[in-house]
Amino acid sequence: MAIIVKKFGGSSVATTEKIMNVAKRILKEKKPGDQVVVVVSAMGDTTDNLIKLAEGITKDPYEYTREMDMLLTTGEQVSIALLAMAFCTLGQPAVSLTGQLAGMKTNDVHTKGRIVDITPARVHEELDKGNVVVVAGFQGSDEHGDPVTLGRGGSDTSAVALAGALKAATCEIFTDVDGVYSADPRVVKGARKMKEITYNEMLEMARLGAGVMQPRSVEMGEFFKIPIHVRSTFTSEPGTIIREDYTMEDKDFVIRGVAHDKDVAKIAVLGIPNTPGIAHEIFSALADAHIDVDMIVQSIRNTEKNITDMVFTVASTDLPRAKEVVDSVADKLQAVGVLVEKDVAKVSIVGAGMLGNPGIAARMFGALSGAGINIDIISTSEISISCLVKRDQMSEAVNAIHDEFFPKKG
Ligand code: ADP
Ligand code: ASP
Ligand code: MG
Repeated sequence: MAIIVKKFGGSSVATTEKIMNVAKRILKEKKPGDQVVVVVSAMGDTTDNLIKLAEGITKDPYEYTREMDMLLTTGEQVSIALLAMAFCTLGQPAVSLTGQLAGMKTNDVHTKGRIVDITPARVHEELDKGNVVVVAGFQGSDEHGDPVTLGRGGSDTSAVALAGALKAATCEIFTDVDGVYSADPRVVKGARKMKEITYNEMLEMARLGAGVMQPRSVEMGEFFKIPIHVRSTFTSEPGTIIREDYTMEDKDFVIRGVAHDKDVAKIAVLGIPNTPGIAHEIFSALADAHIDVDMIVQSIRNTEKNITDMVFTVASTDLPRAKEVVDSVADKLQAVGVLVEKDVAKVSIVGAGMLGNPGIAARMFGALSGAGINIDIISTSEISISCLVKRDQMSEAVNAIHDEFFPKKG
């Protein structure tokens, strides 16, 4: 008896009509004997609207992360109840479970929670009774039973983690695009759909902003060795399989894709002493506040006085708290000042093929200079190169780089 996990994102369940269609589609595809677990996100823009609601109370609601989690988990609770009802009206017994009821145990880092354990006994129990089990994505609970969300896009992670814990035969991520493309198809018209992509490359694409999958979900897929099928809710075409290695064509490329992230901000700590321990001082304070830091550049401002500048990027949502933390460290270090730039974006290329393939960076920078785009910061990993650019040039930058590596056919 195969356990099948299917996840439907917000736009797939945006209206009650769409929820009915999801239930009908699942029943049409369900083979006798299949045990089906459906993970769902909040309807449409519900999560964004809940955040806006909180912003009506305070400018920076993420200061109150536990209450944000209490608020945001309601979104998924609406869609699981409605989808379970939809199944029942179609004659299929179904039950909805919150993340907590499904056994999703997380740490206590509110709004950025990580799954630490899954004990899906209740899910098995309900499946064995013949129910389709509808589980709320994006949420779990900490050791006190308090709700914890898994970061934006976290329903992907709920689905893959649950598929792993249930030893599911397949994990399908249904969304509003029909697969993973060489760039966001909403930004690059000629983006190419991939049949397959490796966990490594997908993880890097996701980490660098390709919002189609939450990065943690790809790590989970790799950990459990579960192939993830990303496909469209609205068609039955095959999508993209994320797996360990390539099995088909498409191996012959240097760059796998172009990713972008507009939700970044730059912080510069200017004029700090160039002495041992300074970087540790700044970044350990940020780590203590659970703030991820990305592109980091340290540059010498004045060699005689041995003074340096430290520049780095954080997620836009972390900016208010990051600024607070950095301001207090800067005071201690007697820095000249702290500057913040919000109108930036990161564009990146990703591909395992760039290893041992010189000239890739030069081609990327050439594409940007050809489009008259200035690069502010550059950072690299083994399989990616990222450039920080002005946010209003992001789309142009992504297209210029995509044209360079994926020339238009014909
Ligand atoms: P869901 O609500 O189903 O989780 P998301 O909005 O989180 O959907 O993810 C799907 C979106 O991801 C697409 O609409 C697309 O704009 C965006 N996206 C970004 N990069 C890519 C990419 N490389 N391939 C496909 N989609 C991408
Ligand atoms: N509803 C959450 C969000 O909008 C989780 C998800 O959709 O994956 O981020
Ligand atoms: Mg998503």
